Amino acid sequence: MTEDLIGKSADDKARANMQDYDVERASFSWDKARAFLDGLPGGRLNIAYEAVDRHVVHGRGEKTALRLIAKDESATDISYSDLMRTTNRFANVLRGLGVEKGDRVYSLLGRVPQLYVAVLGTLKSGCVFSPLFSAFGPEPVKARMEIGGANVLVTTRLLYKRKVAPIRDQLPELKHILLIDGEGPELGLLDLARLMDAASTEFDVVATEPEDLSLLHFTSGTTGKPKGAMHVHQAVVAHNYTGRTALDLHPDDVFWCTADPGWVTGTSYGIIAPLTNGVTMIVDEAEFDAERWYRILARNKVNVWYTAPTAIRMLMKAGAELAGKEDLSSLRFMASVGEPLNPEAVLWGVEVLGKPFHDNWWQTETGGIMIANYACADVKPGSMGRPMPGIEAGIVERTEAGAQEVTKPMALGELALRTGWPSMMRGYLHEEARYDKAFSNGWYLSGDLAMRDSDGYFWFVGRSDDVIKSAGHLIGPFEVESALIEHDAVAEAAVIGVPDETAGEIVKAFVALKPGFSADEELQLSIQGHARKRLGPAVAPKVIEFRENLPKTRSGKIMRRLLKARELGLPEGDISTLESDEK
Ligand code: ATP
Ligand code: MG
Repeated sequence: MTEDLIGKSADDKARANMQDYDVERASFSWDKARAFLDGLPGGRLNIAYEAVDRHVVHGRGEKTALRLIAKDESATDISYSDLMRTTNRFANVLRGLGVEKGDRVYSLLGRVPQLYVAVLGTLKSGCVFSPLFSAFGPEPVKARMEIGGANVLVTTRLLYKRKVAPIRDQLPELKHILLIDGEGPELGLLDLARLMDAASTEFDVVATEPEDLSLLHFTSGTTGKPKGAMHVHQAVVAHNYTGRTALDLHPDDVFWCTADPGWVTGTSYGIIAPLTNGVTMIVDEAEFDAERWYRILARNKVNVWYTAPTAIRMLMKAGAELAGKEDLSSLRFMASVGEPLNPEAVLWGVEVLGKPFHDNWWQTETGGIMIANYACADVKPGSMGRPMPGIEAGIVERTEAGAQEVTKPMALGELALRTGWPSMMRGYLHEEARYDKAFSNGWYLSGDLAMRDSDGYFWFVGRSDDVIKSAGHLIGPFEVESALIEHDAVAEAAVIGVPDETAGEIVKAFVALKPGFSADEELQLSIQGHARKRLGPAVAPKVIEFRENLPKTRSGKIMRRLLKARELGLPEGDISTLESDEK
């Protein structure tokens, strides 16, 4: 934990949508948040109507909704009116095929315009959307389509051939395959562009009930087999509100969420929150590249940027000089999610980009941001921040009488949330028992361990499965990893517990180095020495192993369980979301 507090100027505070956290929290209600949206007659609500059509109805149709940056860096702008028409066409295509309300539409696409049109067009038609990450192989694609009973798939010829054709006969419910790049030779492969051309640009958005299913999102699979979290249309109330307050989105902002819609962040905050707030959002088709990212930020004058710790650490690894080549003065608010954000990374933001990264915490299950650092509030580097207005978070202990809150400041326990916010999942598909087990005494139990300080800020310790028990100490990997990356040579670190006869477990660290450092014994001792000084000998890693890369999920999370399984020679478990095999 660090003592540095990053204060906000009066100017920062004056510009923020939420000017005072305590005042907002005291006066908040979900009904008030809902009033920012139009809704549909009869108390109905549709995410896509709020994201797109509403702006056209209110005379903002000419504004750019999406700026799509292709791999060659050419940009295409799509206005809210364009988006309304194309999503109407898509909804009409589904209707023309006989696809009915509640049917499941999947995508297996990169970040191309058709993906965004498919998500919103599907929601307009009252169908349920499930986005798949385009880099998945046939097995994870099949598993997710099987679980969700996919009826329609939007994809490309190549992705179809490689990943779907081999398993097609095992998906009897999959009736229509819409190809974005032409017709296929097999039965049921349709040319989406041709169907869209023939479809009307007019469509009456299906008046979905607030509790109708909207999206099916699979979790990242960091701890095991991904779970299918079911979300409903009224989640849009939380997306809109958290976009405005936790990300401080103003209608004249240019916003960039770097996550792929194959993960919940890329949909909740890469589509729904920005569009319902009427901003211009950037979509980059290409993968991470430090120079390209700085160019995108500068050329598009991005004001609000939402990214992830892994990307920030990669930018840090690429060096401050690179950042200095572009004019990044438009950046007003930067936020991060997905993994714990090391204090070092927050401070790097201040030093190199002139602004701190604001960490926030949530999960696929919670649908939207639950705990955050806000534009109007001081940032405590290394802390996830405070619960959103409307959200009650607590630290609980699992006892025989169920979850019990522990109120003592800095007590370690499970991070839990009082149930009842609009974007909460309504179930894990086909896994009712698992869903039920996540609740106790009115709390939703997150599976993460954390602490709350006396100011009400939450501090992430680790996932329950990752916490290390060593010689009577409970050690959170995040604290150790954060100390390690303070060392000049360290780009990334992952810490696990390895069984030990005397200590129970000992702390082992896997470390990836910055360019220019060589993995030798001297460096090992230097890193170990630094960790001992910062953490004390009981908590500092006993063993440090250098690795070229650390294993990560495709959503960018370090897979400590895989490092551990390999270390102990145990089965690797579900690795369907593993990005690259570092073996
Ligand atoms: P699975 O549940 O399938 O193992 P996952 O938990 O990684 O996968 P997600 O829902 O994508 O799937 O990720 C949510 C988790 O990510 C959180 O429970 C937490 O462990 C971690 N996380 C997200 N944001 C933060 C943050 N700001 N600080 C620390 N951890 C975070
Ligand atoms: Mg999880």
